[in-house]
Amino acid sequence: MKANIHPNLKLAKVICTGCGNEFETLSIKESITVNVCSNCHPFFTGTKKILDSEGRVERFERRYKLAQEQKEKKEQQKKQEQEKQQKKKELFEKAKK
Ligand SMILES: [Zn+2]
Repeated sequence: MKANIHPNLKLAKVICTGCGNEFETLSIKESITVNVCSNCHPFFTGTKKILDSEGRVERFERRYKLAQEQKEKKEQQKKQEQEKQQKKKELFEKAKK
């Protein structure tokens, strides 16, 4: 090894905020915080639990709902517009007679 170019390795404590698991590894940092670790990641646990530490699923569902509501609103407006046109047509036909 060359002198004075290698980082100083320390025993680092890794803390998982997802399950509260703690373990040690080597790092230049003294502590590492992770959202998911080998103790709770579905790949290792074999479960199909959705990891949602940042509210991604909630955000998606919120956006999906919003889009759905806007779609319904648009369709209602379209319907109203069509009814208006129909009434106009009817009035026009009456006036013709
Ligand atoms: Zn974990």
